[in-house]
Amino acid sequence: MASAKIRVIIIGAGIVGASLAFHFARRGARVHVVDENEQAGSGVTARAFGWVNIINIVPRAVNYSLVQQALADFTRLQADLPDAFLATRPGSLFWLKSTAETEAFAAAHRAEGTDVELVDAAKIAAWEPNLLEPPACAIFSPRDLALDPARLARDLIDAAGVAVTFGQKVESLILSGDRVRGVRLADGTIEADLVVLAGGTAVDRLTESLGFRTGVEASPSIILRYGCAEPVVNRILRGPGLEIRQSADNMLHVAKGYIDDRKENAPERVGERILKVMHERLRLPEGVSLVEAAAGYRPFFSDGMPRLGFLPGIEGAYVAVGHPGVILAPLLGRLAAEHVLEDRRSPLIPSAGLI
Ligand SMILES: Cc1cc2nc3c(=O)[nH]c(=O)nc-3n(C[C@H](O)[C@H](O)[C@H](O)COP(=O)(O)OP(=O)(O)OC[C@H]3O[C@@H](n4cnc5c(N)ncnc54)[C@H](O)[C@@H]3O)c2cc1C
Repeated sequence: MASAKIRVIIIGAGIVGASLAFHFARRGARVHVVDENEQAGSGVTARAFGWVNIINIVPRAVNYSLVQQALADFTRLQADLPDAFLATRPGSLFWLKSTAETEAFAAAHRAEGTDVELVDAAKIAAWEPNLLEPPACAIFSPRDLALDPARLARDLIDAAGVAVTFGQKVESLILSGDRVRGVRLADGTIEADLVVLAGGTAVDRLTESLGFRTGVEASPSIILRYGCAEPVVNRILRGPGLEIRQSADNMLHVAKGYIDDRKENAPERVGERILKVMHERLRLPEGVSLVEAAAGYRPFFSDGMPRLGFLPGIEGAYVAVGHPGVILAPLLGRLAAEHVLEDRRSPLIPSAGLI
């Protein structure tokens, strides 16, 4: 398969598919991206909080070193595509219930070689004057980034300069013997040497037809967005009960764990409750109001690792999916391009039945 001139179809223009398109195209492959939505980044990527971070990953977790490498790949991508990162905000402040827990968490990150700093209440108050009761101490994680993942997906596709077909679902894969030859859409076919399945939670609908299941699960989480007229927070803030960031248009973004499907825990109701918490914790201007409350389904694997590799027993089909997809996207894009085009498979990601 290793040839830069191969024709590659990528199914899925979420942040993962977009990054693969960018990395494959930069290495000379002829890429065609297909997505059933009308533009890139319209799947769960549109509902992501947009936190590219290491601080929210538990030290010694199975994917910790993967995320460390993923942040290095974000730095590389930022140097390659500076315009796509103009609106990003660096740095996050993270604290736990007690100072002792926060200090221990910082020490555990440092023991893994992650560059984090403990800051005291005075510094937090100076950095975040609208935080009403700054904690006694917080961890400052300088390399974390806040960004708009859907916009980054669009920028990656634009920068890749690849062919795109939006608004059309891939109904099935075209097979010839034990080789995938392309994809079938409602009104036509596209041929290729390699088909990459980057459809997020929908990936198994297509792998099943090839006799393989990745086992991807759809893990819900809630995104809340509040219209706001003024700047309130400067960095991503993550303390007990509140995870918040603000974008350049002053929109306040909050991520919340999904509780259950009872009426009182519907995203809008959670959004109303969180607005009260925001008023208790932050000096908010008049008129902050909930403009979006929705659950998104993250492509998740129970072992906490992504899936990247060729499907077994069949030629010409490759899988790229996993969580946290925004953080991992630049890394997955590079590793997939190296694997397919340069025959270099990274030991960072276990094969999980893939080749
Ligand atoms: C509330 C919330 C907060 C989050 N916060 C973060 C965060 O801060 N950081 C982070 O890293 N991650 C975060 N995530 C997770 C992140 O959103 C996902 O891991 C990531 O977006 C997955 O990207 P993807 O490209 O794999 O999937 P998707 O964005 O879903 O893209 C898959 C695309 O494939 C297309 N597709 C599928 N099947 C077909 C088909 N047969 N034909 C044509 N098109 C098809 C779909 O239309 C879709 O556009 C969050 C998620 C949620 C819900």
